Amino acid sequence: KMIACALALASGFMASAQQTEAEINKKVESLLAKMTLEEKVGQMTQITLDVIGKGNNRYTSDYPLYLDDGAMKTAFEKYQVGSVLNTASGHALTPQKWYEVISEVQKNTLKYSRLKIPTIYGVDEIHGATYTDGATMFPQEIAQGAARNPELTKQAAAITAYETRACNIPWTFSPVLDLGLSPLFPRQWETFGEDPYLCSVLGVAMIDGYEGVNNDIGNPLHVASCMKHFLGYHTATSGKDRTPSYISDEALREYHLPAFKAAIEAGSHTIMINSGIINGVPVHANYDILTKLLKEELGFKGLVVTDWADIENLHKRDRIAASDKEAIMLGINAGIDMSMVPYNYEVFCDNLIGLVKEGKVKQQRIDDAVRRVLRVKYALNLFDKPNTNPKDYPEFGSKAHEEASYRMAAEAITLLKNEGNILPLKKNIKVLVTGPNANSMRTLNGGWSYSWQGDRTPMHTEKYNTILEAVQHKIGKNNVTYVPGVSYKEGGHYYDEFADKLDEAVAAAKDADVIFLCLGENSYTEKPGDMNDLYMSDLQTELAQKVAAVGKPVILILNEGRPRVISKFERQLKGIVQTYLPGNFGADALADILFGDVNPSGKLPYNYPRYPNALISYIHKPSEEQRAGEGVYNYEADYNPQFGFGFGLSYTTFDYKDLKLDKTSIKKGENVKVSVTVTNTGKVTGKEVVHLFTSDLYASSVTPDMKRLRRFDKIELKPGESKTVTFELTPKDLTYAGRHGEYILEAGEFEVMVDKLKQKFTVSE
Ligand code: BGC
Repeated sequence: KMIACALALASGFMASAQQTEAEINKKVESLLAKMTLEEKVGQMTQITLDVIGKGNNRYTSDYPLYLDDGAMKTAFEKYQVGSVLNTASGHALTPQKWYEVISEVQKNTLKYSRLKIPTIYGVDEIHGATYTDGATMFPQEIAQGAARNPELTKQAAAITAYETRACNIPWTFSPVLDLGLSPLFPRQWETFGEDPYLCSVLGVAMIDGYEGVNNDIGNPLHVASCMKHFLGYHTATSGKDRTPSYISDEALREYHLPAFKAAIEAGSHTIMINSGIINGVPVHANYDILTKLLKEELGFKGLVVTDWADIENLHKRDRIAASDKEAIMLGINAGIDMSMVPYNYEVFCDNLIGLVKEGKVKQQRIDDAVRRVLRVKYALNLFDKPNTNPKDYPEFGSKAHEEASYRMAAEAITLLKNEGNILPLKKNIKVLVTGPNANSMRTLNGGWSYSWQGDRTPMHTEKYNTILEAVQHKIGKNNVTYVPGVSYKEGGHYYDEFADKLDEAVAAAKDADVIFLCLGENSYTEKPGDMNDLYMSDLQTELAQKVAAVGKPVILILNEGRPRVISKFERQLKGIVQTYLPGNFGADALADILFGDVNPSGKLPYNYPRYPNALISYIHKPSEEQRAGEGVYNYEADYNPQFGFGFGLSYTTFDYKDLKLDKTSIKKGENVKVSVTVTNTGKVTGKEVVHLFTSDLYASSVTPDMKRLRRFDKIELKPGESKTVTFELTPKDLTYAGRHGEYILEAGEFEVMVDKLKQKFTVSE
């Protein structure tokens, strides 16, 4: 709230009164009654700037300011197109240029629209204003999952909304509410991690930040959010983007649905659909998921938009429709309201009009879709105020915004190993900084940063520090040697190319007191990030092993979109720090942690695997080893992650005691209160995430999970200080999805777990 007020004051405007749902519906009905079929279909169409800008000017610095008048006339006059997305330019624009581009699009839309229906412009502003120079880039969602601080996530989203509106953009395609279950999938870093409850809490916090109190998106400090990608994305069997998955109804509801359900209850205005195929059916053609589940059962009243070209894909890729026309019929009848076409929109519009005339798509379905689009446009107040202007957003990229990004990074970075308490380090030491991630801004931000693949992040600016630069600032340039060592190239035949550079790193290691080994991945987004081997790349592994063999202490600094397996050299390391994709100020936060100015408090949002063939979530069904006692089938790869979900060290120690329940026996439908006392038993102030897990000891329909996160709280304790944390469990926390996806709450024995403490309670009829 404080940040929202500060932003409002700085902008010099306060919101006008929020329109009620009834007021909006009235306007929608009166407009809808005047619309022709062609105008309605236009509202269901989203195109990209590629089709209205001069495509061949893509990479000039002014593009896409040159909007093609002829192309705009076709799109907005002939086809009455109602929505536009993205940049197509491949590089970032200033807020002013964004303003000019979108006002020009808006001006043409209104000029050609008989009923003066404004366009709705959407961009993937997923961790800041993605395609804008000088925007405040926050740690990516996976890092926010590690920070476990909903207030910081809400604040990050509120600032992103502000900077997005500064660019005249009212709609962001965020948050990602998919489960980051598989490190093979190239988009795991776009999620809050592998736990449904964590994704729900942080997803709701993000929506609150974007849309504001009561989802008042008419307030020009807020934007419409877009939950994505509904439902069951990220779990492709092959691990590759946009490839099929097989998910039971039970798993869909138990794991994938909760974050979306919570976000719908939190009032998010729009939703984007999973581009993949589940159980043989493309989700874009799945009436059961889009209409029965989403619109009817969950009562979602907002706008359902496709992912990129996914109606066309029903024909050309998924082969579930023999023509474009049939694909459009399938998608729209399944429940799609707006098609992100984004190129061949004439095919979409002409065919959809034809389908309605032939009775293959009902007028009612069209009206339902258009109502949903118009409701969002009215809620955003676009009819009265179609543009927002950068001059009203003086806090864009401000120091205060940057500090919020820094704070999130400082709470996200996770200390995974600290042998002999080697960290924090003293400042009067000689350090070798090596590895491909040591001197790159691109790797700190990851994808969706200044460009789609994140390959245009500015480097060596006054504002932003790479890891090398941040360490140099901290202990002085003279104390730091830098040898990049190797690149990300995969495969043994690259050894020759890097032999000299490896030798150089080894030689420099001999003269250093400590080595910061900065490994991980380069930035990538979506399919380009598909890969075949989860091990840390060969060259980086070689660098780690050779440098560690020198005998000086090595601190591994991980900077990666997903946990690359490090078991080939982990034992040779003294310290390990996971930075994830910590954003523009991640290196500063890292240096503060390495040298003890900040006490780390991040916790892993996923299981860090020990082997590529042993990928398993902390949420898993029990194995023989775990439930039947040790001995017979005690395979190492059964359940043996390198580091488990929720793990993360601190420079202090915390002691847990007095785990208590207010009742040890409850009736079905009652709540139970759980409390625990945490004490800081070390010498420095620290933050601790208190996780409450439950497990259902016996269930009648499906084998219960080993344990499930039900609540968490991040608390700060001074040395010697104690706090008692109380959580309340509700029947919902004890309910599970049965084998056909039906919800079951049953009598029986349950266990609660906090840290290493456990208590049982029973539920009776
Ligand atoms: C991605 C979406 C994104 C859309 C628009 C797609 O390729 O899957 O997450 O919102 O593009 O940029």
